[in-house]
Amino acid sequence: MFINKVRPVLDVIEELSESGCVKGFRMRLGEGLMNSDSFSRIFNRFAEGTIFEDIDMEVEEVPVRYGCECGYVRNLSALSGGSSNCPRCGNDLEVVEGFDYELLDVF
Ligand SMILES: [Zn+2]
Repeated sequence: MFINKVRPVLDVIEELSESGCVKGFRMRLGEGLMNSDSFSRIFNRFAEGTIFEDIDMEVEEVPVRYGCECGYVRNLSALSGGSSNCPRCGNDLEVVEGFDYELLDVF
């Protein structure tokens, strides 16, 4: 297991520790970081034997989206195999979301 792959999980666990979370949490998770299945699998592995064992987690996946300053947006699946330039104006597309996570609620 590579540390940068599990990093988001470790960061979330650290944030939960600081927030005083005891029962559960809700979060948004960018698919560019990892999918929710991997997240919960890795989380449970690290949470074993800690206060976060058997915690309620609700993970909402955020698809990777790219966008252009002209307002054009498309998701990763539409981009794969194609060019990374905007079909409208030709500018480079940039990541809009999907490579980040956000804790929405802890309780
Ligand atoms: Zn454009």
